[in-house]
Amino acid sequence: MRAFTALAVTTISLAIATGVPAYAASAGSAPTTAPAASAPAAPASAPDTARGQAADELDTVYEVVKTAKGYAITVFDPAAGVSNAQLRSELAKAGHKVLAKGTNPGDAIAAASGSTSVTATAAAVSTSCQAYGTAREWCGHRWAANGFEDPAVYMLDHTSSAWPVSAATNTWYQAQGIDAYYRWYTNGCPGGGRHCVHVYNAYYGATGWAGLTTWGTDSTGDYDNTTNVTVKLNDTYGGTAANHRNVACHELGHALGLNHNTSTGSCLYYMQGTTLYPNSDDFNILPRMYGY
Ligand SMILES: [Zn+2]
Repeated sequence: MRAFTALAVTTISLAIATGVPAYAASAGSAPTTAPAASAPAAPASAPDTARGQAADELDTVYEVVKTAKGYAITVFDPAAGVSNAQLRSELAKAGHKVLAKGTNPGDAIAAASGSTSVTATAAAVSTSCQAYGTAREWCGHRWAANGFEDPAVYMLDHTSSAWPVSAATNTWYQAQGIDAYYRWYTNGCPGGGRHCVHVYNAYYGATGWAGLTTWGTDSTGDYDNTTNVTVKLNDTYGGTAANHRNVACHELGHALGLNHNTSTGSCLYYMQGTTLYPNSDDFNILPRMYGY
């Protein structure tokens, strides 16, 4: 949401000033990785700190699929009791094109398309990709403001009452720098530069994931701000109301451009749990990403 009062702005500014960007020290390494733009990059074998990846994030399960417009990048989040290795294996058995552990989705697109654009984009974001405390940006996944003070992102709810999409959206609405609005799906995407995230639930099957978020790119692999983002919430694994709130909070966080938080005190921790809310670092990183 917007900063309605001067006091709120001051508070955020102070928080930013005292925050310690975890990857600030790695910025100097960016030039040495940039030449990879000239050739398809090999899967990363070390934390890709130039793009803000922490070591634990290298285990994150991604799929890259060719679409009519470009590519779709999906992050899969494991159900309770499922390891990322098991999730990767189950998805592969089900025919998903899961990336090998440690492969950056941008590098995978560059290798598949021959395009250097996405790699150049990754290099470009290396100096601006944000970390704040335990929170991480999903590098390069930023919504455009399109003339608004903050990007306006509508969560279009297609789900049953078992999934607290409204409550989770209203929590994210508290963040400065981006406006996350709840909207029932039959009202449609409002357009006019406003972005939409379609949120679905179904019995998607026992392939190991509790929730997923898919972002699209254009033909060159650059993240496409005109394509809707999709979130899917899996009914197959059941779970408590707290589990459902945890997963909804987590996936909507991905849809706003956040990656995994290293703290179990955030709903964006990489493993499913019962943490209902983002932590203060999640709230502090969003205004840094979106221009405050
Ligand atoms: Zn996740």
